[in-house]
Amino acid sequence: MESDVCYLKDTEDVRLDSGRVERTKTLIEEIRALIKSNDAEYCSFWRPVLPWGGVFTIQADQQAISCLPLYVQIILKNTCTIDGFLMLLYVILRDNRTIRREVGLFLGKRFVDHFLYLMDSYDYTTVKILWIWNRMSKRQYRSEIHQAALEIDLFGNEHENFTKNLENLMSTVQESCCTSWCCPSRHQELLQKTINISTPHELPDRDPIQSAVDEFFCPKILLCQEYGCKGLREFSQREFCHGPPPFIILNMQMWKSEDLSYVPYYLALSDHRYSLEGATLFNREEHHYSAAFQIDGYWMHYDGLRNENLILLNKPPELLLLSSLVYVRNEK
Ligand SMILES: [Zn+2]
Repeated sequence: MESDVCYLKDTEDVRLDSGRVERTKTLIEEIRALIKSNDAEYCSFWRPVLPWGGVFTIQADQQAISCLPLYVQIILKNTCTIDGFLMLLYVILRDNRTIRREVGLFLGKRFVDHFLYLMDSYDYTTVKILWIWNRMSKRQYRSEIHQAALEIDLFGNEHENFTKNLENLMSTVQESCCTSWCCPSRHQELLQKTINISTPHELPDRDPIQSAVDEFFCPKILLCQEYGCKGLREFSQREFCHGPPPFIILNMQMWKSEDLSYVPYYLALSDHRYSLEGATLFNREEHHYSAAFQIDGYWMHYDGLRNENLILLNKPPELLLLSSLVYVRNEK
């Protein structure tokens, strides 16, 4: 495993003069150490990572003392719509230097460095605030001031709160042309920022997810949808705008468990091979998201609402209540 930050090695955590504890291991090193020391027979529990919600206390400066502060705390609610993905993004970025550099081109190197630093410092509330203020648009969450606290409520949809905020990482373009000369809009260029795969009309023999991904990218001919046009619209092969992305997120919200015979470990996409890194799961009754991901082939389940919120599984999870699947590009 690589380490690009100069952390003190083989020593206990160091308490700084300020009282803050500087971790000597990155979070992923801690998780790997846990996996190593684990008894393979049982599920193992680990101390919490990234708990649900969060409270951030604002240190009052001179200016705040001389005037009346509007709020002195930021309270985060219903953060499960971003929590699972923040864990997954952390693992993906810490695990691979090439991917980290590429993601930096989309999200900004400073953002990536700051994000990793905060995760490795276990500064989880600040990580969430970084995501909310740096990546999300204001209309994606509700916020109000309530008794000297700013409350930010992230209740909603994971794809709105996370997947759509990855800039052009997964952007694809598909051109189309209508066969009719009378078409009001013959040439079109369709840009999509996310990968939306549709559920199969009938169960295909082979891998349903690979088929759906192929369908999303392949050329096709459909009836033209322009008003009054009776032509046929020919769609070109869909291409990634910025080359095959370092990782992809497949939106699985419309897929029912019965549509899926299995979840493939590998996907072929744009001449590259992608392998399954993890998934986010959605419990409809509780309107709650959790996540599963693997490190070095060991699967873990993360649920921010539990006290022991990262659990090492003794076998790959059953991915029945899928919200999204996350695949990472393999190096050729
Ligand atoms: Zn047309």
